[in-house]
Formats: sequence, C-alpha cells, structure tokens
Amino acid sequence: MAKREIIILPDKRLRLVSAPVKKITADIRTLVEDMFEAMYEAPGIGLAAIQVGAPARVVTIDIAKKDDPKNPQVFINPEIVESSDEKVTYEEGCLSIPEFYGDVERPAQVKVKYLDLDGKKHEVEANGLFATCIQHEIDHLNGVLFIDHLSKLKRDRVIKKFTKAAKRTAE
Ligand SMILES: [Zn+2]
Repeated sequence: MAKREIIILPDKRLRLVSAPVKKITADIRTLVEDMFEAMYEAPGIGLAAIQVGAPARVVTIDIAKKDDPKNPQVFINPEIVESSDEKVTYEEGCLSIPEFYGDVERPAQVKVKYLDLDGKKHEVEANGLFATCIQHEIDHLNGVLFIDHLSKLKRDRVIKKFTKAAKRTAE
C-alpha cells in the first residue's frame, strides 16, 4: 500500500487552495516520491499534492502509454501563462472521484511555467492529453474539480452519490 492515501470526494480538503512552494526541501522531495507511489499504484496519469492531503502546489504526471517506459514529470508551482482559443473535449476521470467519468471541454493547448525539483524555471507547451491533464491538476491546486466543469445536475448527482457512500463507510 502507498504511504499516503488518496483522499476521496466529498473530503473538504479537495476544495482548499494550495500554497506555493517557497523552498524545495527534503519534505517536498519526499512528498513527490510519495505522490508518484500513490499515483502509480492507483493507477493514474496525474496527481496533485492535495489529493494525498498536502496543500502544496505540486503536481506529478506520467502520461506514457502502458507499454512504454515510465515518464515521471514533476511540476512545482505550475501556472498557465497562455491558453489557446481552440478547445478540445476529453472524457476525464479523477483518482479522488473513482469510477466516475465526464466530458470536459478545455483549451487544446496551454503554455505552463513551473519549477523542477532543483528549483529551476521551465516553460512547456502542452497539447493533447498532456494539456488536458495538466489543466485538470492545476485546477486541483485551486480547489477546483473536473466535475465543476459539468452541468450542475450532473455535479450534484455525483456529489450526492459520494456523500452517501462516505456516510455508509463511516457507519
Ligand atoms: Zn483529479
């Protein structure tokens, strides 16, 4: 089992706005390791630190195909600096909302600036699945979930379902 458990809807922490990382300490490095462990175990292609209960602006992503070598990527304090007018729709899911999927429309390309684990600044142009994934994860850092991009009806329905399930587990 992964050292840190992935928190699930309706856990209120999912709505927190995560704080920027001021310094890349040993704790941040450990957090990143734990995030990859939890993400690969799930398995998922992206994770924000708050999903393991840490409200820090840290994102891990690996969108390598199943049979390709792993491609772990870390984004510290990621920020979207440009978004394309062109939009694209992907069916999204979320490790914090297991087994629920929905079509979300987002900019097809985004330019993202971020720091790596050495504190070095980078800028990357993301498109395709990578663009959708990084926007989904940056949303998490702002307390936003992909279900917020769905209709209110669909969102209310899934929140209700997960709230009921959480109550059942607590009983
Ligand atoms: Zn998610």
